[in-house]
Amino acid sequence: YVKNIGKNSWQIFEDNVKKRTYDDFELEQDLHFAVDKNQLELHLQPIMGQDEKDIQLAEALVRWKHPEHGYIPPNVFIPIAERSGIIHQIDQFVLNRTCETLHYWNNKSLTITNNVSPKRFLRQSFKDNVMDTLKHYQVDPNQIIFEITETTLIHDYEIVNKTINEFRNIGIRFALDDFGTGYSSIAHVSMFNIDFLKIDRQFIQDIHKHQKNQAILRGIMNFTKELEIPMIAEGIEINEELNFLRGLNCKYFQGYYFAKPSNLDEFKNLLR
Ligand code: C2E
Ligand code: MG
Ligand code: MG
Ligand code: MG
Repeated sequence: YVKNIGKNSWQIFEDNVKKRTYDDFELEQDLHFAVDKNQLELHLQPIMGQDEKDIQLAEALVRWKHPEHGYIPPNVFIPIAERSGIIHQIDQFVLNRTCETLHYWNNKSLTITNNVSPKRFLRQSFKDNVMDTLKHYQVDPNQIIFEITETTLIHDYEIVNKTINEFRNIGIRFALDDFGTGYSSIAHVSMFNIDFLKIDRQFIQDIHKHQKNQAILRGIMNFTKELEIPMIAEGIEINEELNFLRGLNCKYFQGYYFAKPSNLDEFKNLLR
């Protein structure tokens, strides 16, 4: 993971991680102030369509720039945020910045996905918060996709199904993230109205060399095709992986092969 990252701030932080004797509790203390102190940033990573031409889709990925420790990876602070409840603020920050960006750029052909933590998804106030935010920034719900994981889907079926459908009725679409990991169940794909399926990087990595993963991907492609659920392959790093996925007629591609997540200025340059 680290070796593919290169010489940006991520690598620097990975070095810090090894050195630091900083525990989760201290990190949680600092995380409490991260939103108010403007330490969070919205980064965007393009998701390419089959023609690989203009970028019409991107995933929002939050970044925490710690004043002393530099960029801290989401894999470190998101679990802490989920445990402590700070995730509500973080995910709301990401939605705010997403909507603000769409409004400010006035780009009607760009759709942005947001990762939604299960805690936030299941909260009573979630729908109102989202509606208020869209209204405030005058954003078309069609330009927002929520990425949820199967950890969300395993909660109360009635509630989860109702929430998904309410959002879909106003035009917000859903992607099932990290498919193939965790509580994966093919039943989820038929139980809920999902618009996109995101295949976890675990299956994509060196796919050209792994016959078992090829068989799994072929199977997933077959049923998603019949169900008319487009597949997004994440974590594509090399041409061989891309070629294999193209051969399967995969619809969307995301990964360092195309672009790493970048800040808004850099992303805007990518759009040109
Ligand atoms: P995810 O939603 O599955 O996001 C994809 C992750 O894969 C991102 O990691 C992205 O930077 C990384 N990635 C993309 N292409 C490649 C590639 O070619 N190679 C490799 N090695 N990695 C690639 P990131 O940004 O570190 O985020 C990690 C996880 O943290 C996300 O996984 C998501 O679960 C969570 N996360 C990130 N931002 C948010 C957020 O705003 N809210 C919530 N609730 N969770 C978030
Ligand atoms: Mg995601
Ligand atoms: Mg994912
Ligand atoms: Mg993930």
